[in-house]
Amino acid sequence: MTDRHLVEVSDATVVYDRDPVLVHADLAVSPGDFVGIVGPSGSGKTTLLRVVLGAVRPAAGTVTRARRVRVGYVPQVETVNWSFPITVGECVLMARAGGRWAPWSTPSERSEVADVLDRLGIAGLEHRHIRALSGGQQQRVFIARALLNRPQLLLMDEPTSGVDVRTRHDILHLLSDLNADGLAVVVTTHDLNGIAAHLPHLVCLNREVIAQGPPEEVLTADVLERTYGAPMDVLEHGGMPVVVDRMSASNVIRLRRRAQ
Ligand code: ADP
Ligand code: MG
Repeated sequence: MTDRHLVEVSDATVVYDRDPVLVHADLAVSPGDFVGIVGPSGSGKTTLLRVVLGAVRPAAGTVTRARRVRVGYVPQVETVNWSFPITVGECVLMARAGGRWAPWSTPSERSEVADVLDRLGIAGLEHRHIRALSGGQQQRVFIARALLNRPQLLLMDEPTSGVDVRTRHDILHLLSDLNADGLAVVVTTHDLNGIAAHLPHLVCLNREVIAQGPPEEVLTADVLERTYGAPMDVLEHGGMPVVVDRMSASNVIRLRRRAQ
């Protein structure tokens, strides 16, 4: 591993029960990187993210971390228990209590929470219940929690699943701004056109890394078919790749013909 990597996963294989869910995976993240991991459901995206985090240990291969690297993790919102009676401030402060809920906080902690909420555009929401927030606000609270300990690397699992287009734009901009400020970011997404095509570096995953590189290079019909197991076409719009499902493209043509 070179000194400049924050985390380097090399030839990692992860086995749950007996089935390998990730095989020979390589992923290196350096300061300033903005990486998207794409692939179908069950392809190992969350698992790879958790390998980078250190929460899942590969059965084979190595994970090397820069000394004292701090990594923030934002889980997929669907995995959060929203009925838990907790306020925004308490939720963010869980980053300090080792992930446990603590009913107390110091004035300096409260001021750090206020600062990070302000940075994320949700200032003043400390006392609101997390359940009472919009999907976009909830995402920001969880990003705030991940940022409280000032990580150099932010890992975010499916930040835009289940949010509307406007919120998706806002989250993508927010992550771009954080990245421009020097934070390395790795996101998983199944949104090829709304998210992945806008990122500088993609990893196409289907149990193994099918390809990685800039979207113009990896978003090809061949790589996508091997990643998703279904035929797809790649068009170009304003210099950016746009992925279309070949079935739906041919259906549109068929329906248009029928309408004529
Ligand atoms: P993705 O995030 O791409 O949907 P995951 O990494 O969550 O994929 O899962 C990859 C595979 O591993 C899936 O088949 C899933 O069912 C399985 N899996 C994930 N977590 C566990 C676990 N804790 N125990 C057993 N199998 C798991
Ligand atoms: Mg997942």
